[in-house]
Parts: sequence; structure tokens; C-alpha cells
Amino acid sequence: MEITRREVEGLGALRSDQWPIVSLYLRVDKEHVTDDHYSIRLKNLLRELEQAKEQIGLTRAQVVAVDEDIERIREFFRDHGDEFGQGVALFASSRASLWRVYHVPREVGNEADLDFRPVIGRLVRVVEFFEPVCTCLISRDRARIFSGHLAVFREVAVRLDEEVPGQHGQGGWSQARFARHIEEHVRQHFQRVGQVLFQLFEQEPFRFLVVAGPDEVVRDFVDGLHPYLRERYVGSFNSLMESTAKQVQEETKRIISAWQRQERERYLDLVLEEALSQDMAVVGLDRVVEVVQMRNVNAMVIDDSLSVPGKYCLRCGALQAIGSDVTECQFCGGPVRARQNIVPEVYAEAYRQNANLVFLTEPDLRARLQPYGGIGAILRYRIGAPTTA
Ligand SMILES: [Zn+2]
Repeated sequence: MEITRREVEGLGALRSDQWPIVSLYLRVDKEHVTDDHYSIRLKNLLRELEQAKEQIGLTRAQVVAVDEDIERIREFFRDHGDEFGQGVALFASSRASLWRVYHVPREVGNEADLDFRPVIGRLVRVVEFFEPVCTCLISRDRARIFSGHLAVFREVAVRLDEEVPGQHGQGGWSQARFARHIEEHVRQHFQRVGQVLFQLFEQEPFRFLVVAGPDEVVRDFVDGLHPYLRERYVGSFNSLMESTAKQVQEETKRIISAWQRQERERYLDLVLEEALSQDMAVVGLDRVVEVVQMRNVNAMVIDDSLSVPGKYCLRCGALQAIGSDVTECQFCGGPVRARQNIVPEVYAEAYRQNANLVFLTEPDLRARLQPYGGIGAILRYRIGAPTTA
């Protein structure tokens, strides 16, 4: 199935006390076949699981269970690998009755890991970058609707053509009455399209709505939409009803990218402003980890290229203080695991707490956050200034 925010939230809440869970991300990407074939990458990834097995210290029975899952994964790709166009995310722990496979954008990359929770960092990042979007082409008598996200975008099987009078003269009607009659038809058409959009939204909620058409038509149409849809409306472009899906996708992408950049800038301004006044934000990975452990993150702003080593607890999941040399969890005394890059665990944890994640990819925005450690968090509640210098 396609990955959705709801699925990631479900995975984020999973934990298996006894049986390890294999998390596997694989780029299959048939459109961009380059040097290596994905089956070679798969083989290498499954080998990485051997190292992970040692890292988390398993019992004999757990090792057997993991080996069975690895074999099942191998068979799955042999039989079904061809069904994936871009990327796969797979979570398996047969003994814990877990087996989930998702279609994901190719940008998910490659990783294989073992833990008692699904390793969701990559998934969290991908759902932030590929938010579902709906684009509606609208005119006074027709409509076309497209949906998907920026990697997979298609025309929904909905196309509305209305019989609007007026193309062939006005018969015996007075001009004013005839004009009103047409306007009523247009109004009803907008209403019907709005209802179809709302139904689509209820089936598969989208984050962004883009509307395309002549300016005044777009304005009237958007004004009449359900408030849930209006608050997702992020912009419009001028388009012919005959545009190709490719053209619609490109224009949609342009509008959403511009909107996202503004949004990232807004969050960055906020986090820096609040952190400098030592009020409702903190910056730097060490302080961010502290507030995550306090479950006090409303939003996290992250330099997308940030990578810092760190540790977390295999039993309770707690992030350990950055730079500490603990061998046991500071909170529960459980075994800790070291990561070359702890940042994905940090934002995955914030995601589990329903924080907004804002990834900065633009070099100029990243440069502004860099002096503060490349990461910051806007708080849910005030904790006051640090007491130590
Ligand atoms: Zn712990």
C-alpha cells in the first residue's frame, strides 16, 4: 500500500517486547536504473542486519526468529520485487505478527535495521517531503481533479462537464434574467465540484489544495469551498482545461515549493527569535534532546544534512544526553545503543509526540541555523532560562 501519515503514526506507536523487528528501506527505482541493480543492494542490506543482530545482543531464539524474517523478506522480493516502481519500506517480525510493506518515493534511500520498534526516521522524513496534494482545474462549466503527492501524481477518475446554457443565444428571455439563470448554473457546478473534492478529502485527506483556472473563476470557486478545504488551499495558476497531467504536476510543484519555502522560513525565524530571547524555543542538539525527553516539542526545525553521533535506550527508547559516555540508560537502566547519526531518532521521537517537523534543505536557510547547531525546537510550554552557565 501507499505510505500515509496515519500509517507512519501507527508504526511509530508499535513496540515488541520480545521479538526484534526488521525495518528495511530499499530504493528499487525502475525509471532511474543506474550502476547497481536493487537485488545487489538488497543483499548488502540483509548483510547489515547481521551486524545489527550483534549490536543489540539477541538470545538464540531471537536470532532464529530474525533469520526466518530475513528469509521471508528474500522470498518476498524474489516474488514481488517487480511490483514496486520507486521504493519499498518493509517492517517484519513474524513472531510478533507484524508484516507491513509500503510503496514509498525513491528518495527514501536504503537502510536495514533491527530494533524492538520500527525504525521510522526515513519514513517520517519522506512523509514530510511528499505531503498529499490535490489539484483542481476549474472553469465555469468543467472541472478536472488530480491527486497524489509530488512523486506520484495522477488524474483522479473524476471529470465534470456541465450543461451550461448560453452558447446558443438566449431565446425569449430578458437579458438580466438570462444572466441570472447562467450564474445559477455556474454556482451549482462549483458546488458539485466542491462536494466531490470534499468526498475525496474524506477518503484520503490531502495537505495541499491547488486550484487552476482563470483568476476570477478560481476566486469565486475557492470562496464557496468547505472551510476544511479552504484552509488547505495554497495557491492557483492559470491553466487550460486541456493541460497534460505533466504540466499540471509541474505547476503544482512550483506553487507548493514556494509555499513550503515560506513556511520553513517562518518556522526558522520563530525558532531563532524565541531561542535568542530564551523563551519558547531551544537550539542545539543537546538542548533539543532534553526537551524531546520532556515531551515538550511543538515543532522541530532541522538542517536536513545534520549528522551527529548519539545513543538511545533499546528498552524504553529514551535519547541519552548528547556527548555522554553512558553504557546504561539514564532513565531505566536498560541497554543503550550507539548511532553514528542520532538525528533521525531525535526527529522520529518528536514525530511520535505529534510535533511538527520542518526540514531545511535550502542552503541559505541551513546557513542561518548552522551557528546554533543546525537544529532547534519550538516548545509547548515555557521552561525558563537555563540555570547553569
Ligand atoms: Zn531506558
